[in-house]
Amino acid sequence: MDMKYSDSIEKSAEYLRMALPLMSKQAAGLHPVSYAVWYEYVSGRNAALKARIDEALRGGVIFDDAGTHELFHKHIAELDQSLAQRVTDGFQKVMADMSHSASQANDHAHQVGNVLDRLSEDLASSAGDKLGAGMETLRKQTRNMQGAVSVLRERLDESRREIEQLRHEVAKAREDALADGLTGLVNRRGFDMALNAQLSARDPEEVGPSLVIVDIDFFKRVNDNYGHLFGDKVIRAVAQILKDNVKGKDTAARYGGEEFCILLPETPLDGASYVAEKIRATVEKCRIKRVDSKETVANVTVSLGAACYRRGESANDFLGRADGALYKSKSAGRNRITLAMA
Ligand code: GH3
Ligand code: MG
Ligand code: MG
Repeated sequence: MDMKYSDSIEKSAEYLRMALPLMSKQAAGLHPVSYAVWYEYVSGRNAALKARIDEALRGGVIFDDAGTHELFHKHIAELDQSLAQRVTDGFQKVMADMSHSASQANDHAHQVGNVLDRLSEDLASSAGDKLGAGMETLRKQTRNMQGAVSVLRERLDESRREIEQLRHEVAKAREDALADGLTGLVNRRGFDMALNAQLSARDPEEVGPSLVIVDIDFFKRVNDNYGHLFGDKVIRAVAQILKDNVKGKDTAARYGGEEFCILLPETPLDGASYVAEKIRATVEKCRIKRVDSKETVANVTVSLGAACYRRGESANDFLGRADGALYKSKSAGRNRITLAMA
């Protein structure tokens, strides 16, 4: 767990109060990237980023989208999930506070208004015109104030909606960072995260998880004989077969070029073996068409290795056992599955 960004919500809210005015002076849009940059800047934690920005600001620089992204990539590098979460949580809190005060002010203005209404009715009927006219002015002013307060509330509600949108964008950015562009499966980083999360949340008494590693056989030949584009098509086809053969809780990932990993929570080795065999048989049967000649290419096969988690072992050792099993499938002739010893 990265402890670097474990600010309390209060602290994040304070940083955001500081960051907002700075951010609003820039030309860049108010997107997650600029939140992250300016949040990091005011927190003072990132010395290199701070020095860069300070110097630029002294020189009268105004950051646009490109400049902000550049700062982000150079000094923050990756959209850290917890940073993004802190930023949106903090911002949400600032807005909620403001909205709460505005709504209190509104209620208060209503109460004053009601009292004045009654008073002016009483006075109009009993006292002289002069007093009644004074009351009328006061009443109008109160109405104006109520109007101003409700405009403020509307603006705050609008901001809240924008924050929801922002949250959504942050979640989307995060999802994109963990997805594989070619296949839509989770990428290696996403898979490692899922595996670590699974192992750390694991009940010591439960079985599994199990891992299946899938590697396309003689893929170099596919590329050499039919070209790289067709190679990509084969990778997508195998990815689709993986998707079709896993259930909701499972994670299927493209782990490397033509290599895939599947994480099967709470699954014993024979369950993994069943999934692996289904994938093997489906790939063996599938026929992929070439785009140009419409020629159908047969003989795409995969080799697989499966392992069931051994209590206490590291994620790396676990992956290593599944990989060892895959290696055995390769050396025993490919297009087969091997189960790692428990
Ligand atoms: P083996 O049966 O032993 O796995 O043989 P292989 O040819 O599949 O072996 P290897 O893993 O050495 O080769 C994988 C090749 O996959 C290397 C690379 O040219 C190709 N490759 C890796 N990523 C991609 C990709 O994204 N698209 C395409 N078309 N090819 C890729
Ligand atoms: Mg291969
Ligand atoms: Mg390979």
